[in-house]
Amino acid sequence: MARSGPIEQRTGLRPKKRLGQHFLVDRGIIEGIISRAGFQPSDMVLEIGPGQGALTFPLARSVGHVFAVEKDSQLTGLLKEKLSRAGIANVTLVNQDILKWDFNEISTPSSVKIQVIGNLPYNISSPFLEKLVENRSLVSRAVLMFQLEVAGRLTASPGSKAYGAMTLMVRYHARPTAFFEVSSEAFFPRPKVNSMVLELDFERPYPRRAAHDTDLKRVVKGAFAHRRKTLLNSLKGFFPSWNREMVLEAMKKCGIDPGTRAETLDMDEFLCLGTALALTNE
Ligand code: SAM
Repeated sequence: MARSGPIEQRTGLRPKKRLGQHFLVDRGIIEGIISRAGFQPSDMVLEIGPGQGALTFPLARSVGHVFAVEKDSQLTGLLKEKLSRAGIANVTLVNQDILKWDFNEISTPSSVKIQVIGNLPYNISSPFLEKLVENRSLVSRAVLMFQLEVAGRLTASPGSKAYGAMTLMVRYHARPTAFFEVSSEAFFPRPKVNSMVLELDFERPYPRRAAHDTDLKRVVKGAFAHRRKTLLNSLKGFFPSWNREMVLEAMKKCGIDPGTRAETLDMDEFLCLGTALALTNE
């Protein structure tokens, strides 16, 4: 039988697996995340999946305003009551799916960007990262907890197994910094693997830029579409005009060996290839 933990004992609710509900129960870790995030008293913070409020309460006490978006209506109801009982008035609790929620609902003066925090449900890591990147003009920084494997992909170096399209697309828009690893024992229920807290700093994107971001996006997508193929074979035909000659010519221009594989190329090489293979009318 599954171990009964604090949330069930206090609320009668069972943690929902499909919503990735692994609640932080280690006070030291909670304090460590808040302190390392280093938010300022005037900050506007968006929290993803507040759950029972492990991060929401200390956040509310240290920043200007918290927008907390939680998909589970039962948890939203419980947290609303808890916040009100504690006399906390600077939290706006929204019962919605963060993947469908419009970041523009947080209205701030255009000069003020939002800070994001979240102990992310493991099953939305990739789509949430995509959404975050899409909304990068509104976001200053994000301090997020990921499963170790996902965090590894975000901080991977060329040549490693974890290096791929996600590494490059996030790194192009934000500088990732690993903060610290969190043992699975810090959660209830306990997940199968450890996690990692990391910061994505959107104020520090990759210093070199593509003429058009889509040039980079296309070449990265094409390059990693077939990891086991050579770069030439992955790219050739990915778009109709990317025939063998054109891809070879672009690789030559960028000083890239035709037999190479996508995972060995660094960002500068992808930027060069993206420009060399820019599509004019497709
Ligand atoms: N922040 C709490 C903590 O650290 O204890 C809860 C973290 S738990 C890993 C993830 C939370 O995100 C859960 O409360 C879950 O219900 C919520 N959640 C899951 N999918 C969501 C989604 N698509 N949008 C918003 N919240 C979501």
